[in-house]
Amino acid sequence: MKPNNSSPIPGSAILAGVSGRKAIIMAANVRIATVAEGIFRAAKDTDSAVFMELARSECDLRGGYTGMTPQVFSGKMNAAAKATGFDAWALHADHISIKKGDVAEIEQTKQLIDAQIRAGYTSFAIDASHLFSFEGKTVREELAENIRVTTDLAQYIESKMKGNEFGLEVEVGEIGRKDGDGLVLTRPEEAVEFIRALKENNVHPQVLAIANGSTHGHTYDENGNVVEQLSIDIPQTKAIAAALRNNELNVGIAQHGITGTPRELINLHFPKGDIIKGNVGTFWQDVVFDTLKVYEPALYKDIRNWTLEKYRPVNPGKKDRQVFDGNCKFAIKEFYSDLYAVDAETEMAIQAMAYAESLVFFRAFGSYGSAALVRKKMAKPAA
Ligand SMILES: [Zn+2]
Repeated sequence: MKPNNSSPIPGSAILAGVSGRKAIIMAANVRIATVAEGIFRAAKDTDSAVFMELARSECDLRGGYTGMTPQVFSGKMNAAAKATGFDAWALHADHISIKKGDVAEIEQTKQLIDAQIRAGYTSFAIDASHLFSFEGKTVREELAENIRVTTDLAQYIESKMKGNEFGLEVEVGEIGRKDGDGLVLTRPEEAVEFIRALKENNVHPQVLAIANGSTHGHTYDENGNVVEQLSIDIPQTKAIAAALRNNELNVGIAQHGITGTPRELINLHFPKGDIIKGNVGTFWQDVVFDTLKVYEPALYKDIRNWTLEKYRPVNPGKKDRQVFDGNCKFAIKEFYSDLYAVDAETEMAIQAMAYAESLVFFRAFGSYGSAALVRKKMAKPAA
């Protein structure tokens, strides 16, 4: 049922294709869509399946902070896929975040999902991980609201997809949440209880996002310099994957917040196959801004000044570098028309950078050749 050979395929088909393999599928949050063609070209040349995604904060009915609605994002991703003739990709809604879980928020969320489905999305991440009851006496009670909201939205997606397959990611343990002792990590029994409860409700996700020590974007030392480190707790991640496997729950792990982790460490130390989806977001924004510094210095300066003037006053005590790093994403919408009107040489450089960086990610993730596995699995009639 594919209208042409570069339309997005279900996220579930990609994840089923690499099931049991030591591979992580890259999911790229392309806040500035110019990088997409470079990523797709690298995916095609290495035959690596890939997810293209944006979170609710990045892309919603009013454009999020990237200035793209689901329809615009889909249009740009489909155009880039078509230009390269690449077929093994999913169009994914990252972090469909629900913060309160009340009727009004659920209603608005369903409107967003409607727009995503109209735009041709093939994969969805419901993130109700904020809804955690500290008063709960059992794990099930602690997770009750997350389970209720995730079930409601997953069933809504299923009804609206009208029998078409789709990818489903869910989340337990808010990524980057801290208490007095540091980052709060997801426990294996939480992951198992959460997925078990969803399955009882006839909701069957392929992939689970957990809090395992990563944070979104960069991390910094006390001088505001970017720190590279392997911050994810690998033993804990393996323990969660093993607990899910031992309970025959058939769900892999989505690793969020990869930008700050050096790829040589991912290559050698990440538990590939336990982690099956790896989200890379801020990195692609850096690729664009680093290129602009040289190719479009006047535009870069305008973006820098706008960001610092707006966000310095609300970040007292922080160094300019950190203020810019943390908030330049909000300049994307403000400078939308400039960012998409750079000259051909700039665009070529951005895409070449994105191409080369994608090769290194695909290698580090072990995903070369994964697209062939996906095609093979899709060609087989369901058992
Ligand atoms: Zn994330």
